[in-house]
Amino acid sequence: MKLSIENLYKTFSGFVALDRISMEVGENEFVCLLGPSGCGKTTLLRIIAGLLDFDGGVMRLGGNDLVEIAARDRGFGLVFQSYSLFPNMTVKENVGYGLKVQKVDKKEISERVATLLELIKLPDLADRYPHQLSGGQQQRVAIARALAVEPTLLLLDEPLSALDARVRAEMRFEIREMQQRLGIPTIMVTHDQEEALTMADKIICMKDGRIEQIGTPRELYAEPATRFVADFVGVSNILPTAWIRKNLPQMMDSRPGGKEGDFEFAVRPEQLVVDDQKGGAEIKDMQYLGNLSRVTLDWYGEDVVVEMQGYPKFTEASSIHVTVADGCGRWVKV
Ligand code: ATP
Repeated sequence: MKLSIENLYKTFSGFVALDRISMEVGENEFVCLLGPSGCGKTTLLRIIAGLLDFDGGVMRLGGNDLVEIAARDRGFGLVFQSYSLFPNMTVKENVGYGLKVQKVDKKEISERVATLLELIKLPDLADRYPHQLSGGQQQRVAIARALAVEPTLLLLDEPLSALDARVRAEMRFEIREMQQRLGIPTIMVTHDQEEALTMADKIICMKDGRIEQIGTPRELYAEPATRFVADFVGVSNILPTAWIRKNLPQMMDSRPGGKEGDFEFAVRPEQLVVDDQKGGAEIKDMQYLGNLSRVTLDWYGEDVVVEMQGYPKFTEASSIHVTVADGCGRWVKV
């Protein structure tokens, strides 16, 4: 079922936490709410879950107004950042809890739990208690518990943020695979752009309670609409109009109208090319990362980051020539 939200508005004692949010989550779609701390992601997720009131706007699931449906009757699966398993219940009791509440037949519960434990790759841990599990295992169980009741919508609030980097990377892949296999529309809150880029069908990038841009991971990376998105999703060099006019005047042709400060030019580190000619950039810093090098240059007074394959072949630290690769770079709204 499709979730649609129109002009959702939320204030906390006069402070606008969500400012006219409109978005859709299609059937089977994996949507990430991405943005820095305090931008309103969790507030939005909690309102969708029915755990928090709102001041204005409309939310519909499959055409029905969600306001009419109490939180517990929405049939949503919820997974939070902190492991919220019942400590006095075993893994299989935790996973089967929602089904027991729904008075599902015991035999069916045990079959469904066994299938879910296979799905989360923990079939042998059914009789353990939460404190006998690692963080990653606990989050897998929390996800299985949310999936047990066959939710109409799965809501994940930073489910991976407490895990170490390796487990997090593994679980990104697993959650995504599970979601696709089961075809459940999912909304995940994250402030980690890499997580959003690797997992989402669609990213909703937020700032200060507003939506900055909605798009596929590719669209957000390749076609950021605003300076904020260019900077928050991946790494960008942001160059002001006056600098471009002076040093890369040919780029001015593509600049949208508007006032001097309305737009800036964003170019990714891999879109800057260093060649053998003499030019006006100087090396400020160099990081060798094995497969690539990241070099910070002073380019006519602006710090820019350039990425290149392998070890850079600079013969000297100054007089470096930099160009923007053909067709690369974009004017973004400030
Ligand atoms: P984080 O990644 O840090 O969790 P977030 O994007 O999820 O951030 P929210 O928790 O949604 O942000 O908070 C959005 C804004 O609303 C913040 O400025 C926060 O201080 C404020 N806020 C949240 N809950 C309340 C509340 N109960 N009372 C007052 N202000 C609140």
